[in-house]
Amino acid sequence: MYDILIVGGGTAGLTAALYARRAGRSVLVLEGGGFGGQITASPLVENYPGIPSISGMAFADALTGQALDLGADAELERVAAARRTGDGFVLTAGGRSFSGRALVLATGAKHRKLGLSGEERLVGNGVSYCAACDGAFFAGEDVAVAGGGDSALQAALFLSKRCGRVYLVHRREEFRGEPCHVAALKKRENITLCLSRQVTALEGADSLTGVELTAAGGVRERLPVTGLFVAVGQEPDNRVFAELAELDAAGYVRAGEDCRTSTPGVFAAGDCRTKELRQLTTAAADGAQAAAAACGWLDQAGL
Ligand SMILES: Cc1cc2nc3c(=O)[nH]c(=O)nc-3n(C[C@H](O)[C@H](O)[C@H](O)COP(=O)(O)OP(=O)(O)OC[C@H]3O[C@@H](n4cnc5c(N)ncnc54)[C@H](O)[C@@H]3O)c2cc1C
Repeated sequence: MYDILIVGGGTAGLTAALYARRAGRSVLVLEGGGFGGQITASPLVENYPGIPSISGMAFADALTGQALDLGADAELERVAAARRTGDGFVLTAGGRSFSGRALVLATGAKHRKLGLSGEERLVGNGVSYCAACDGAFFAGEDVAVAGGGDSALQAALFLSKRCGRVYLVHRREEFRGEPCHVAALKKRENITLCLSRQVTALEGADSLTGVELTAAGGVRERLPVTGLFVAVGQEPDNRVFAELAELDAAGYVRAGEDCRTSTPGVFAAGDCRTKELRQLTTAAADGAQAAAAACGWLDQAGL
């Protein structure tokens, strides 16, 4: 019986593990993909305070090592089922069961992809899912943003302050984002709206050299851009935990800045919870907060 079970070995889960270990609690981290989480896909991180520049893999390795060195146990298994018991929680992963008194959900989220040929190969070499993370790498260059919701509008506005021309490509005539964002981007001279069009192909062997757009009527055109920011939403996957913690309409775990969920003893940290900004800093902050809240909850229960 562990004091704290943590689902997800990304920045939030590993930070929770190191805070819980430093508080003297026994911890098991269950990770279904690879330790480090999403950031391992990023070649360069330049916005983590105190670390001017580091690869996502090096960041993930350092954080994983730090949590393990502090004595966190870890299993490379995906949690397939979760239930509450009389004295805590039981997780099923890889055909085994793991018990703990408190539970931290740190399952992250995945950026939706366009599903185009070459998309995965060009991540970090022109294709990005995060303007706040990668926008600075495209200073002065022409880029495209794909999407029509608030995240796409905000990405276009953010990039227009740094890049040359920003093409905002949206498959409909109307945006789904907030009217104030739509009004703001119509005023930016270096934003070109490409409405009723979709990105249908990516060009470039080693790095992006352009994108193909196809209009609703089938007419094709080429945009000579070196960056494509895909902002068509994120997908959390918390269905396994839906009986344990309330989810919002989009599937994120409902929890505030205190990381407490609707169930006592269950906490949510990082990209998997309802929040505005999904970044390493906010994931790390949540991990610390969730661990502190879980330790406090165990203390109060006399466990
Ligand atoms: C390409 C890319 C570049 C980025 N660049 C930056 C950047 O430069 N700066 C920045 O601040 N942010 C950046 N981000 C965002 C940042 O990576 C995330 O905000 C951060 O990783 C969130 O951490 P997390 O721990 O909440 O989630 P994640 O990193 O997504 O980790 C969650 C983990 O949980 C695991 N998991 C999920 N379900 C289960 C289950 N049922 N059982 C077991 N394990 C499970 C997943 O496998 C995953 O490893 C980038 C993201 C991407 C994709």
